[in-house]
Amino acid sequence: MSGVRVPSVTLFSCALAGRPGTRRTPQLTSVMRMRPWVLAETNYGHTRQHQYEVAVLPLGATEPHNLHLPYGTDLFEGSIVGEHICEAAHQQGANVVLLPTIPYGTETNMHALPLALNLNPTTLNQVITDLVDSLVGSGVRKIVLLNSHGGNEFKPLLRELCGRTEAALFLCNWYKVLSDVYSEIFDHPDDHAGEMETSFALAFFPQFVARQEDGSLTADDGRPRPSRFEAVQEGWVSMTRPWHLLTTNSGCGYPHEATAEKGQQMMQRLTERLSRFLVELSASPMDEQFPFAMDD
Ligand SMILES: [Zn+2]
Repeated sequence: MSGVRVPSVTLFSCALAGRPGTRRTPQLTSVMRMRPWVLAETNYGHTRQHQYEVAVLPLGATEPHNLHLPYGTDLFEGSIVGEHICEAAHQQGANVVLLPTIPYGTETNMHALPLALNLNPTTLNQVITDLVDSLVGSGVRKIVLLNSHGGNEFKPLLRELCGRTEAALFLCNWYKVLSDVYSEIFDHPDDHAGEMETSFALAFFPQFVARQEDGSLTADDGRPRPSRFEAVQEGWVSMTRPWHLLTTNSGCGYPHEATAEKGQQMMQRLTERLSRFLVELSASPMDEQFPFAMDD
């Protein structure tokens, strides 16, 4: 659970109404409304009778996000995107389950910032590999890695596991899903804690967005230093950026025109696209031509 929304689970409330001298038995006075597409809320009574087809594993991070967003931003985002897309897919008939979010990611380029809690890529890959084995052991062979964090790069893991696991692994960096329509929603590009992430937070966890007394964000402008190398600046050559030198307070992207409405709009479009994929994936047989289209 993201920890930011009250889950739609009504916990058992016990009416201790036993007669004197008898053993008092808790009575269930309210109905438990678990969401069967959220593994953390469901139970063995459900899973022993129900075989899931698709598992979605969100991957987050714990790191500073300028001066105004919480350390848990990426892990909240993973859980919240996962909840939206799995719910929408479930309602369209997909047989999908959302797994608990992994809260830590790769932070080596943030090593100089306090409490950017790092798992090296090899460590994280091992964790995911073990979870994939568990899922396959439970008969789930379609697995979607739903990544929230730019420092996590999982394509090499997909290549390493290809042919070594029965599972078909898919990777979605959700923050790239709307690249083609980004400018229809937002006015400023976002790399880290900018307009997109701040809008997300204002829409879904506003209680953790820090503000000044006048209501403005406690953030600075999130302006990054350009590289001294043209090739790096143009993207022909890449490197991992030492984050404490890249920008002032860890933000990389202008956050001050963020709104909750922009965050809601993004989530709606994200949910449409990704839930459609989950529905198709759930319905697709893992036949001999999977994942390709059948020959005519
Ligand atoms: Zn982030």
